[in-house]
Amino acid sequence: MNNTNDFGAILDKHQLQFDRNNPTTLQVNLGKLCNQACLHCHVDAGPNRTEIMTKETIDRLLLLIESSDEIQTIDVTGGAPELNPHFKYFVHEFRKANKNIIDRCNLTVLLEPEQEDTALFLKEHNVQIICSLPCYLENNVDRQRGKGVFSKSVEALKLLNDLGYGKPNSGLVLNIVYNPIGASLPPDQMTLEMQYKSILLEDYDIVFNNLLTMTNIPIKRFKRMLINDDNYNKYMTILKDNFNPMAARNVMCRDLISIGWEGSVYDCDFNQMLEIPIGNQVTTIWDIDNFAELMIKSIAVNNHCFGCTAGAGSSCGGALDSGSEKSDSKIQPVAIIN
Ligand code: SF4
Ligand code: SF4
Repeated sequence: MNNTNDFGAILDKHQLQFDRNNPTTLQVNLGKLCNQACLHCHVDAGPNRTEIMTKETIDRLLLLIESSDEIQTIDVTGGAPELNPHFKYFVHEFRKANKNIIDRCNLTVLLEPEQEDTALFLKEHNVQIICSLPCYLENNVDRQRGKGVFSKSVEALKLLNDLGYGKPNSGLVLNIVYNPIGASLPPDQMTLEMQYKSILLEDYDIVFNNLLTMTNIPIKRFKRMLINDDNYNKYMTILKDNFNPMAARNVMCRDLISIGWEGSVYDCDFNQMLEIPIGNQVTTIWDIDNFAELMIKSIAVNNHCFGCTAGAGSSCGGALDSGSEKSDSKIQPVAIIN
């Protein structure tokens, strides 16, 4: 391996290699349009963004999926993916292709005009929901995500619970994501889950399945915030000092392919936002005949990857090494989410 950055060097030091498996998950960014404009969004999403995946691009993905049996899960993200005018078509067609669908939902979008039937639509298509609730305290959520976001999020969670989401034996999965703010790692995932479950049930009568802790990747708005607060170097030192080889063995880019709103192919959502193409070579979904072809592409790593491998590790599915004791044990109940 010829690694020239600090992250590559630490992989070399531990004799680790990010070999790509045959991808089982396709993470698709339906666009950068969002009804919120959170301070720390790594997508730089917001209400004024116009980038949206077209139906032509969706149809190309559907064609590729026909010859990519190994892809079992379609993980839909944005922005707020539900605001893409083709969102329902997308979900309907991929369900018809017998794929599991995850919707990364910011909750408040379910209360937006013309979205009144979206929650029911998700239930009817048995879509798994991974939603954003960065804290169980109103002030913290509103500070990060905008005034009134917490109360709307609670309303949306109740709506989902009423439909059966998060309820035992319903088969309707409702997971919540937590990211810390500032220059720290997330607390232990299991401990924080118990705390969230207890407070949301007692104070709001809300239930959910699992809490997923995610580390903030030092890119885009979050990186700008760290630099503005003179915390960037401190944060990078924490990430590097807590490098966890076990987490590094399980990074999500080994099993996942990320698709940009315009059809470009990336190793992960973070590389997508940094415009680092898969294998460091621009590739689009019109350049390939199936996703297995991408197995030969190397994974493009750089120093932001320390965010995925620090402490208990981090991925779009939460911690990677739940046995790790390297997480910051102090719970900081403020977060950023996508
Ligand atoms: S940032 Fe992306 S490429 Fe780097 S380790 Fe994480 S998932 Fe892999
Ligand atoms: S973090 Fe999520 S909800 Fe907030 S602006 Fe970004 S995409 Fe929208």
